[in-house]
Amino acid sequence: MKIDRPKLHRIYRYIIDWLYPNICPCCKKAIPYDADFCESCKSRIIRFSGSIQIPYTDGFAAYCVYEDPVRPAILEFKKNPDGNSYYAFACGIYTALKENGLFDGLDLIVPVPVSDKTMSERGYNQTELIAKELRFLMNVPYKNVLIKSKETKMQKSIKNASERRENVADAFSVSHKAGDITGKSILLIDDLCTTGSTLENAAKALKNAGVKRVIGASFAKTMQK
Ligand SMILES: [Zn+2]
Repeated sequence: MKIDRPKLHRIYRYIIDWLYPNICPCCKKAIPYDADFCESCKSRIIRFSGSIQIPYTDGFAAYCVYEDPVRPAILEFKKNPDGNSYYAFACGIYTALKENGLFDGLDLIVPVPVSDKTMSERGYNQTELIAKELRFLMNVPYKNVLIKSKETKMQKSIKNASERRENVADAFSVSHKAGDITGKSILLIDDLCTTGSTLENAAKALKNAGVKRVIGASFAKTMQK
């Protein structure tokens, strides 16, 4: 399925390319200004075709499976989000939403937050970088509606599914700066989805605050249960 991205965003990418030449997030090779990955890496990306039900959400889409060549790109992205990783990841989420019929009717893009500790150590929330890019592609605003009130371990570092659920249980709450989100339709995004527990708990906080519909999306999805 060929999906055209908005013209205005292509112009923006064209200008950005003069300052920061576009590179493939997987192999770092130079690529055209409007490309997400190089042809070689793109042909090796395993598209996510499964369907999972995440409690408190009304749909879920992911672009690809968390395997090579995207695995090192995501690890690098968490440490050093240079180049055009977040552009490529936003394009992936955009494509997955379109293909799954989940694109329309969304009022707000909300990134899964990181804790204050992570924010002060890292200086940024990598998922927020994707949300910032995605707003241009989708023409939907983004807002940091959620806060992470509990320090958690990296989900993919925990082998056991029930321990993963416990790790993120009630980790999120709605910020007092969120504004009125009652009745809204929200796109909740993450860079990587493992069991869905993170999206589930973030969606739970949104639904408890009166949000009508939550669509979960991630760039990549691990294959483990
Ligand atoms: Zn590449």
